[in-house]
Formats: sequence, C-alpha cells, structure tokens
Amino acid sequence: MIAQERPRIARQCVCCESRDLSKRPAVLMPFVASRVFGWEPVEITDDWHMRDLKCGMAYSVCNTLKCNHCGLIFLDVRFDDSEMSALYTGYRDAEYTALRVRFEPDYQMRNDDLLGGYAYIPHVEEFLRARIGDVESVLDWGGDTGVNTPFRHQAAVHHVYDISGKPVIAGVQSVEVAEAMASEYDLVVLSQVLEHVPFPREVVADVAAALGPNAVLWVEVPHEAVIREAVDPENAYLDKRHWHEHVNFFTDDSLVRLLESAGLEVMERTTFTVTVSGKSADVMGAICRRQEALPSL
Ligand SMILES: [Zn+2]
Repeated sequence: MIAQERPRIARQCVCCESRDLSKRPAVLMPFVASRVFGWEPVEITDDWHMRDLKCGMAYSVCNTLKCNHCGLIFLDVRFDDSEMSALYTGYRDAEYTALRVRFEPDYQMRNDDLLGGYAYIPHVEEFLRARIGDVESVLDWGGDTGVNTPFRHQAAVHHVYDISGKPVIAGVQSVEVAEAMASEYDLVVLSQVLEHVPFPREVVADVAAALGPNAVLWVEVPHEAVIREAVDPENAYLDKRHWHEHVNFFTDDSLVRLLESAGLEVMERTTFTVTVSGKSADVMGAICRRQEALPSL
C-alpha cells in the first residue's frame, strides 16, 4: 500500500496537494459523528449555567474546505483506518441501519432500495462496451457485495476487494489487496468509492498499481449538486454546511488531477443522470489506463 502523510485535519488538498484552501464552518452529521467517534448531539439548556454559551443544540463542528487550485470541496476531518472501519464494517447491515434510522428516520426505505443494486448499471455497461468491448474479467475495488459491478452477469472472473467485510453475492470472489495486485483484469472498477475515502491519492495509487498494462479503469463519483448547480463555482463551498459519508466533492479538474497523480491517463470523461432510491442523481465517470500503456482503445 502506498502511504502519504495522514494529518487528522487536512492542511492541503487531498487531490492536488495545494495548500491554497478556503474554509467555512460546518457540522458533521450526527450519524457519522456517532458511528465514528461516539459523539451525540446535545442540547445546552439553562440549567448548564454556562456563562459564555448560548442555549440550543450542539452538534459536532468541522470545516468545509475548498481547494483554490483544483476546486475540490472537502471535509477537513480525515478519518484514520480504525475510524473508517467503524464507519464501514457491516455497511448497511442491521446495526448500521438501526443507528442511522435513529438519526435519519427515512433511511430504512432508502436502504432497502440500495441493497437491491443500482438500476443504472446497464447504462455504464453500454458506455464501456462501446469503448472497450466485452469484459471477461473484472475487479471491483470497494465494490461492497459486488451487486453493482458492471458486467457482473457476463464476466467469467468477478473479484471484489472491500473493507466492509460483508458476504459477497453469488458468482463473486472476495479478494485481498495482494491477490488483486497479482491478478490481471480486463476492467478495474472504482465506483462510488473516492467520495468516501480520507486519502484518495493513496487509493488511486494502489488501484493504479493493480492495473495491468492492457487493463482499463472505470472511475465513477457523484457529481454533487453543490458543484453541479453552482451559480458561482468559486463560492459554491459556502453552501456546503453539513458532512455525511461523502467527504470529497469532486470537480472535473480535481478528479483528473487526482487520477493523473497516480500516473493514469484519462481517456474519456462523461457525466450522466441516474435514479437511485427513487431520487435523481448525477454521476461523473472517467475511463483511464496507465500512462505507459500501449494504445489499445
Ligand atoms: Zn486541489
């Protein structure tokens, strides 16, 4: 694994490493604060007899950061490995869901939908097939149970590497990093992962190292509304006042810089609108390969 400096509070951009950052106070949503740190919201009342605090709800505070170089908007708190494990082990299982419903009462219905897989995956397959043809072997990095892996119905080899520890679905083989690195795949998928991770440069570097010379990488991240709908992109971060599981909001520029930092060449980018759990969402995708790879697309 490729390690970089891991400060608790980010002092530089986690995509391009610029130290030219703007910041704005925000809150860490109670579900994440509870699951990661064991911190609960608390109401400050008159009977606290506080001289200098106003009464009202106190939530876990943090900062929204914006990179003035690549445009990334991100949470300043960077979770360590044990905190990531606390947040994602048993992702969306009964214990996770019970805690989340306590803070977010409508989550149960959304979770039931999410566990069934995304309906837009055929669109991704169509997009990729037109560019790389059929896929015989696929590695899904951070692929959860494997339910959302493109080409899972066609590929003879379907590997998933994931920290959630959840059982994979039928037809999927769960692998460790060493096996993923040692194997050759037609396609490596890094989908809906980079927005969750505290140190995306490490993850992209590891994935790039697992990429064979003829393999193609499909990267997919949300095209978050705060970025997509910004009237004034330079100041869009001022509207980001709360943080949940997505700790990195990517611009085109930040995603490309991140991928290129690991020696990847971005062959093509795309954005498309999907429906997830009954809600419309937008996705950014990129097809990449190793920069030293022979032209094969
Ligand atoms: Zn940046």
